[in-house]
Amino acid sequence: MIGGSCFCGAIAFELSAPPVVMGTCHCSRCRKAGASTIVFVKRETFRWLRGEEFVARCEPEPPFKFARCFCRKCGTALGEPLSGEDAFPIAANCLDDDPVVRNAFHEFVSAKPAWYDICDGAKQFQEHPVK
Ligand SMILES: [Zn+2]
Ligand SMILES: [Zn+2]
Repeated sequence: MIGGSCFCGAIAFELSAPPVVMGTCHCSRCRKAGASTIVFVKRETFRWLRGEEFVARCEPEPPFKFARCFCRKCGTALGEPLSGEDAFPIAANCLDDDPVVRNAFHEFVSAKPAWYDICDGAKQFQEHPVK
């Protein structure tokens, strides 16, 4: 099991399998939300352990589509665990165990701030990854 939690401990979840992929987004929205590095998890591998009632949702302004989730008590960015999709991103910063996967790509490198240097060999995309 791969555990995850917010920093105050009110919210905890676990993954029954390693995430599908890890990626880092350098856009200002992910950066400000504190969720630049995310892991995509399959819904059937994700389970709440406690604190789902403390999850706050920040709804996006169009054209952005995805709500951001945070702990209502401590503000830890959680990614999108309330997503209705079959797979959704979880903020890697709230994982307590090694998720096995390593960063596979950087997206929105065009929006990366000058103070952040990319120090791994993962693929880089100026905007969304081109499949
Ligand atoms: Zn918390
Ligand atoms: Zn982003």
